[in-house]
Amino acid sequence: MASGEVHAASEAARWTYLDRVRTRPGPFTNLDSFNGSMVAQAMENMKILVIGAGGLGCEILKNLALSGFKDIHVIDMDTIDISNLNRQFLFRQSDVGKSKAEVAARFVEKRVKGVKITPHNCKIQDFDEDFYMQFQLIVCGLDSIEARRWINAMVVNMVDEDNEDSYKPLIDGGTEGFKGQARVIYPTVTSCIECQLDMHAPRAAVPLCTLASIPRQPEHCIEWAHVIAWDQEKPFPKLDKDDPEHITWLYQKALERAQEFNIPGVTYSLTQGVVKNIIPAIAATNSVIAAACCNEVLKIASNCAPPLGMPDANNYMMYSGNDSIYTYTFQPERKEDCPVCGNLARDLPVDPAWTLRELVESFAARPEAQLKTPSVRAEGKTLYMQSPPSLEAQTRRNLDKTLVELGLEEGQEIAVSDPAFATVIFRFKLKFKPS
Ligand SMILES: [Zn+2]
Repeated sequence: MASGEVHAASEAARWTYLDRVRTRPGPFTNLDSFNGSMVAQAMENMKILVIGAGGLGCEILKNLALSGFKDIHVIDMDTIDISNLNRQFLFRQSDVGKSKAEVAARFVEKRVKGVKITPHNCKIQDFDEDFYMQFQLIVCGLDSIEARRWINAMVVNMVDEDNEDSYKPLIDGGTEGFKGQARVIYPTVTSCIECQLDMHAPRAAVPLCTLASIPRQPEHCIEWAHVIAWDQEKPFPKLDKDDPEHITWLYQKALERAQEFNIPGVTYSLTQGVVKNIIPAIAATNSVIAAACCNEVLKIASNCAPPLGMPDANNYMMYSGNDSIYTYTFQPERKEDCPVCGNLARDLPVDPAWTLRELVESFAARPEAQLKTPSVRAEGKTLYMQSPPSLEAQTRRNLDKTLVELGLEEGQEIAVSDPAFATVIFRFKLKFKPS
């Protein structure tokens, strides 16, 4: 036998079990659209984008390559850190300092023959619609809400009703310690990530008044030490979050405050976690969530069973290992007033006596907005612009005026934008109520 035939035979043998799934209809297969002999070929031709080559990304790339996908792109702007090596198993000590996307791509290509992985060592924001249009599916393994919101807005905006290829299912995995989620977004069909934003309230967005007056959680005491006590006492010239002496100072301050308010739970490691904003990563949670995501990709690509979200069904799986183990799937509501996929302005309860500054600052803390650098306009009038500097200077004096002084009225619509989500205008309808 020629060596080429040996290779072909072993290549076919390698995918025997996968082919049993993808070439035969299963109990849940929609027979109208199933063609077993075409599935393997279709999967091999499919172009898949993976965003993130970290804890989830390593698992996702490995799973997709071993599930028969042959043309995968991966985006990650990070380089490999020594602390990644306990779970990001495509990396070795000698890779420290190198691009995650590039090292992960080369490793998987070497391990699974015939798969092509194209790495992009940059930010997702560096690419435009034309780039994202080339993929049939997008899988996210990210640890940043901001990046998720950005790619979500991109896939929703890309939808063109006259072009079936413009619908890109977005499969999103996320983990935090023993908890995680896997969800499938069909842009403009299911609820989107922005619709579901209030389920991911930022931990750090505690109002300053809570920190200053009535802490309720150990994290509030630590944030108080970090934001307020440090500024007042300046124990060292500049806070170095990697200096144990600095963290010890914050820990002791937070502990004193916690004792004053009878709040248990302030520890050195919690202090370090809150101050450095570390999301604890557990290798096996990443495996569970990445596996769930990749099975959805396989189902969508092969039509061998109904995936999450289809037809008109639950599209969100949550998993919790925090308290024993628990998982369930549900269907988050699609919101008419979602700034990305809805059409209506969202109600915004405000105190008319607020200054514009208070309004602008409140957007960071609102779970449904989470905008850190908002610019605000109202019906043809610019109220405050963060940039360019000349416009910022011109509009800055509005910040100290109250909403009433600025001529804003009950029921009036305002438009808020943020450079982090350049394509999205957040529309709000003012609802006056004194606080
Ligand atoms: Zn939405």
